[in-house]
Amino acid sequence: MKNDISRVKDPVKETHDNIGLSTPCHTKEIPLWLVLLDNIPTLMLFVLGFLIINKLTTAGAVIFAFYTVFSVVWFWARICPYCHHYGTRACPCGYGVISSGLFARKDPKSFQKVFKRNLVVVFPNWFVPLGAAVFLLVTDYSVPVLILTICLCVIGFVIIPAISKLVGCKNCEIKEDCPWMTTNKKHNC
Ligand code: SF4
Repeated sequence: MKNDISRVKDPVKETHDNIGLSTPCHTKEIPLWLVLLDNIPTLMLFVLGFLIINKLTTAGAVIFAFYTVFSVVWFWARICPYCHHYGTRACPCGYGVISSGLFARKDPKSFQKVFKRNLVVVFPNWFVPLGAAVFLLVTDYSVPVLILTICLCVIGFVIIPAISKLVGCKNCEIKEDCPWMTTNKKHNC
C-alpha cells in the first residue's frame, strides 16, 4: 500500500524536477484570513471601478468587469508560473495554488524580468476608474460619485498597498527577489 502511494506523481514536484529545481522550497502555509485580507480589498476595488464607470457607460463598465477577470487570469498565466510560490500555499493571495492548477511551471530564474514586463496588465484596474471618476467630477459633479471616488482612492491607493507592505508581502520569503517589494523600497528610501 505504501509503495502504491509513493508511486503517485505530484505534478508540481515533477515540473520542478524537470527544470532542475528542488522546490517547492517555501513550505510555509499562509492562513486563510490573510488570503482573504489580500483579496477582498482588490475585489472591492473592481466593484467600485465598475460602479464608477457605469455612471458614464454601462457597456464600458461591462468591458471593465471582463478586463479585471482577464488581468487576474493573465497574472496567473504569465507571472505566477515563474514564482517560487507557484504550487505552494506560501503565496499571500492564494494565486500560486490556482495558477499551478491551470498553467505549467516556468523557469523561476526569469521571475523578475517576467514580473516587470507583465505587471502593467493590472494598472488599468486602478487608473481607468480613477480617470472616469475625475472626468465625472469635473463634468457632472455629484455627491455619490464623490463618495465612490474617495472609496476607490482609499482602497486602491492606501489600503491595498498598506496590506501588501505591512501584512501580505511583509513576511514573504522571497521579497528580496520581488520587483514589487524592491520597487517600493526604492520609493520609500
Ligand atoms: S507571490 Fe505573487 S507571483 Fe508568486 S504565486 Fe503569489 S501572486 Fe503569483
